[in-house]
Amino acid sequence: TDYPPSVLHGFLAAAESRPDHRALAYFDGGLTYRELDTLSDGLARHLADRGFAPGERLAVMLQNVPQFVVALLAAWKAGGAVIPVNPMYKQHELAHILADAGAAALVCSERAWQDYVRATAAASPVRIALTACELDLQTRDDARVLTAGRLPGGDAEDLLAAARAAQGPRPDVPLPAAGDTALVSYTSGTSGHPKGALNTHGNISFNAHRQIRVQELPADAVVFALAPLFHITGMVCQLSAALAAGHTLALAYRFEPGVVLDAFREHRPAYTVGPATAFMALLARPDATAEDFASFRLISSGGAPLPPAVVESFRARSGGLYLANGYGLTECTAPCASVPPGYEAPVDPVSGTLAVGVPGPGTMVRIIDDSGAEVPFGEPGEIAVSGPMVVPGYWNQPAESRAAIPGGELHTGDIGFMDADGWLYVVDRKKDMISASGFKVWPREVEDVLYTHPAVREAAVVGIPDAYRGESVKAYVSLRPGSAADPADLVAYCRERLAAYKYPRQVEVLAELPKTATGKILRRELKTAAG
Ligand code: ATP
Repeated sequence: TDYPPSVLHGFLAAAESRPDHRALAYFDGGLTYRELDTLSDGLARHLADRGFAPGERLAVMLQNVPQFVVALLAAWKAGGAVIPVNPMYKQHELAHILADAGAAALVCSERAWQDYVRATAAASPVRIALTACELDLQTRDDARVLTAGRLPGGDAEDLLAAARAAQGPRPDVPLPAAGDTALVSYTSGTSGHPKGALNTHGNISFNAHRQIRVQELPADAVVFALAPLFHITGMVCQLSAALAAGHTLALAYRFEPGVVLDAFREHRPAYTVGPATAFMALLARPDATAEDFASFRLISSGGAPLPPAVVESFRARSGGLYLANGYGLTECTAPCASVPPGYEAPVDPVSGTLAVGVPGPGTMVRIIDDSGAEVPFGEPGEIAVSGPMVVPGYWNQPAESRAAIPGGELHTGDIGFMDADGWLYVVDRKKDMISASGFKVWPREVEDVLYTHPAVREAAVVGIPDAYRGESVKAYVSLRPGSAADPADLVAYCRERLAAYKYPRQVEVLAELPKTATGKILRRELKTAAG
């Protein structure tokens, strides 16, 4: 497989060959390739003038706004790396990342700056602070309510103003090499302390170009950024693939089902990717129609489990669209297995699990035991991945890096198996296994059954301490709007469909299940609450 050393190479080629084509669409505004190139040159110049040196790191703490993309390209043009930071992070989470990664510069929204970032940055290594006034490039009313306007008394510089005011050419820094660090991506921490994975330019370029080949989009295609850009799925499958291919990337601040449906109607996107929970939320809107999805050529679910029942309800509601599964991690720079064009993922007849896809070209997947040896074919074991998209390690964590990525092979912490045709199945996370009376229960299998119940919108299954069984199975569900279900009936529903040791002894109905900003259901939080 052939791919350039960095996504910046593809972006610069697009800026040269189609300067007046729209690179970004944002509500009623947007930027052409030329405008985005000029602005990011200006910001790169500004950063360099303020002492940002090649190899340094810029923390970008923004929602899906145009300034995110300007900042990313500028950092790369200045020879630096970006630390994408979840804008929902509070003071102590941000402080940990800025200190751990040694961030030299930071960009956040003006509101966050006023609120708590200024104080956090003052106690951190950050020397250059920039803010994004999120109203600059949007005029739509329903977007306006989501964001704050420019606040008085700001003492950080506005990013776009700084980029426009910068004098002189782009800094004289060579274009990135494949082995240079592009991102320090802190894992979302659904399972522990955040660690900074070092995604190289080559890691991103390999996967972005693989995505471009899978997407097979026409030259005038619009890619809609449903997944947040600060998460590796949004960064690679949406932003990087769109800009490297010269497509238009449509942004809509953050996931709000009504705003997203409006954006589908306005921009007519051909591709998007998001977690299954986002598609469930879109389907729950009474005003969603098949017409809203008619422009899509491909739609993928990535980064979180996809229950087979959601694929079917999505097909029914979207006028026949197939929601394609994809499996990946921050440490393998988004996808490492996906459903090839023209195929549908099979469901394992024994467990009822939907396949996540087949490993992509140049990607090696082994199913291993605790000693690292391959388990007999068809049996479950830990998924281990190697290939050009696996990160070389974590920032400043040599021991953790060696343990998670021995010899360049990523041990994912996920349990899975492969079938005779080469389809990969993810059973669950190794650490989420429930041991009930000594039997292994994988929460996913129980959740998949709950999702087939017509009243269930979301489900999460955890193990809770049980004096007799060691652990017992407990389920949390949220219900579809207008539906009712009695917990005892849901227990009985599972009991009919699962072995005696697997069905949940308790079901609790919640209005909403706790989720990460990327839409992943937080089993850990439920387990803590239950335990
Ligand atoms: P942390 O690593 O701190 O726990 P995180 O797991 O949320 O955070 P990510 O890299 O965003 O970090 O998520 C990768 C994980 O998401 C995978 O290891 C896997 O458990 C899960 N996952 C991703 N795609 C799928 C899929 N298609 N089906 C099932 N699980 C998936």
